[in-house]
Formats: sequence, structure tokens, C-alpha cells
Amino acid sequence: MQFRDLGAQYKALKPEIDAGIQAVIDSNAFILGKPVTELENKLAAYVGRKYCVACANGTEALQLALMAWDIGPGDAVFTSDFTYFASAGCASIIGATPILVDIDLTTFNISPEALETEIKRVITEGKLKPKAIIPVDLFGLPADYTKILPIAKKYGLKVLEDAAQGFGGRINDQIACSFGDISATSFFPAKPLGCYGDGGAIFTDDEAIDARLRSLRAGGKSPLDKYDNREIGMNSRLDTLQAAILLPKFKAFVDYELEAVNKVAKWYDERLNDRFVIPTIPEGFYSSWAQYTILLGSREERDAMQQHLKEKGIPSMVYYPRGLHQQAAYKWMGLTDKPYPNTVAATKRVLSLPMHPYLTEDVVEKIVGHMVAIAHD
Ligand SMILES: *Cc1c(COP(=O)(O)O)cnc(C)c1O
Repeated sequence: MQFRDLGAQYKALKPEIDAGIQAVIDSNAFILGKPVTELENKLAAYVGRKYCVACANGTEALQLALMAWDIGPGDAVFTSDFTYFASAGCASIIGATPILVDIDLTTFNISPEALETEIKRVITEGKLKPKAIIPVDLFGLPADYTKILPIAKKYGLKVLEDAAQGFGGRINDQIACSFGDISATSFFPAKPLGCYGDGGAIFTDDEAIDARLRSLRAGGKSPLDKYDNREIGMNSRLDTLQAAILLPKFKAFVDYELEAVNKVAKWYDERLNDRFVIPTIPEGFYSSWAQYTILLGSREERDAMQQHLKEKGIPSMVYYPRGLHQQAAYKWMGLTDKPYPNTVAATKRVLSLPMHPYLTEDVVEKIVGHMVAIAHD
């Protein structure tokens, strides 16, 4: 059994994907070829934004966004403590200071209350300039922008949405990648919309930011002359091959995969609801299910469940085994567990189950059967 079955997806889309790859080889336009522009236009239209800039990966999508705002040393950037490292690393690598914020244990997303407390603390301390918030749409569920956006406005902060796991999520009719002043996503193969290597994209409605991002992803070049460098940029383009692979995958995502993965979540929910803490999707929210993550009673119970499933040939994952405040790279910050009770609880109790649009109800039945068996032992 696969945790995320990319083989089943390829089988369903093989003719379109193979033809797309061959067309790129025939065109010889391997860098910023036509499929890249076509993909950018389609993604922008889907999420409801004016501009999409494709780039090399989700990590650099976040970094490029902060660079486009001239964020750097002396600036504070607030993000979730319970996420993939890049959500904070994107600030550190350009010299800014990430301020880590505890989560809400029911959604695993940044706690708006804890966020405001941290913003006030940084202002009172007076050492760093608060500049931006990076809410993370963890496991496919949009962060609580209904509360985060008013806080950002109150304190004059920019919002950079980390939708690396959130592509396809919604709050009412608004689609993920449209909640931030800038939004970033990833096309890492296992993400809700993945390519066959690394890839990413950045979204904005601001024409000047769009132009700056296009320059920054190509070394900082002038829009008119490739050998006229206006500033120091990166080399962070999306390969034409990856764009060609993403085009049919995006169509499948919109046509049926997003709906299919929500059906799988329902199958799990119905069967696990009375025995485990199942994922909470708040009223009006819709998840793209990058992960289906349950909470067990304790670290011991979680580890025993993972071991039991492994023995039955069922893969499961712990996202994430530690909070960012516990990472060696951030040891210099001298942070303790105390301000992060919900992150710490999550690291001990979470377990992510196999999840993808090609899972069938009988396979879900089988997985749950093994889980229930151990719970009764
Ligand atoms: C995957 C991920 C990233 C980074 O994306 P890459 O394409 O792997 O660089 C950033 N933030 C979050 C929350 C992620 O899950």
C-alpha cells in the first residue's frame, strides 16, 4: 500500500502526461517555454488572482515573496511553530527573524490569539520591526484568515500565505492562494497538486510585485535586458517539463481529484469518529487534504498504532515529530516548550494516514479495520 499513490494517478493520466513531456522535448524550449505561461494563467484564474509567477519550489516561492517586500535583518516575521521548516526558514535565510507562534490543536493551524500576543510582545520589546505574518494552510486546511487578516490590518503587517499544502482549499467561496497579499504554493510530488520533481508558484494581485518577482526569479534581471541586472536575485524558474506535467494534473485536480479526496476523508471520518480525534474542518472551510491526520491519546498510543499498522503493511507518517522551536537550527533562540503547549501535544499525538484521490472505500475499510482491532486489544 502507498501512503500517497502517485503511480495510480500516472496510470489514469499517462497519455496526456507523456504527450506533454514529448512536446516539450520536441520544442527545445526547456526554460520558461509556453507551458509555463499557460500554467501560470490557468492557476491564477482558478484561485482568483491577477498574477501567478511559477518558480523552482515552495521554499523559494516563500523566500522570493519576502525579498519582493524588502524584508531582511531587524525584521520580525510571524509564523506557525507546527509546520515544515521552510515556513520559518524563508525568513531566516534573508536575515529576518522568525517569531514562532503556537497552534490551535483542533485545526493544527496558527492560533490567532497566540499570534496577537506575540505581535504585542515584539512591539513592547522594541528590538525587531514586525513586518509580516506567514500563516500556513497545514494539511490542506486554510488557516483562519477571518481572524488573521483583521489582526494583520490592526498592526500594519503584510500577509504571506504558505499554501504549500493548501492548494485547492477554501473558506466559503474563496480559494487558497488568494488569502495573502502574496500567496505561495509548492508542486513537490506529494503535495495536493504535485509535479515530477521540484516546483512552486507565487500569487499576487499587485502588478509591481508581479514584475519584481519575475525579475527576482531570474537573477534580478531587468525586464528588458537579460544582461542588465537591477538587483541581486535568485535562479528559481519552473522547468517547462514540470509545467507540461502539471497541466493535465491540474485539470484532473479540478475535474475530480479534489472531490475524490474529500470523499475519502468522509469515509475515514465516518469510521473513525467515535474512536479517535478526527480532523476538524470548521464551518465554511473546505480542505484539499494534503494529509488526513488524527490525534491519539498519548505518544505511547500513537507510536503503538504506527507500529501495528506497519506490521500490517500500512504506511503512516508523523507530521511533525518536533516543533520548529525544537529544531537544532533555532537553538540559538533559546526557546522552551512552555509557550507552545499545543505544538508539543500535537508532536506527541498526531498520526497521518494514507491519503490520496485514488484510495477506494474497501482500502479505507481495511485500514480502519486494523486500527480498530488494536484499539480494542
Ligand atoms: C512542502 C512545504 C514547503 C516547501 O515546499 P518545497 O517545494 O518542498 O520547497 C513550505 N511550506 C510548507 C508548509 C510545506 O509543506
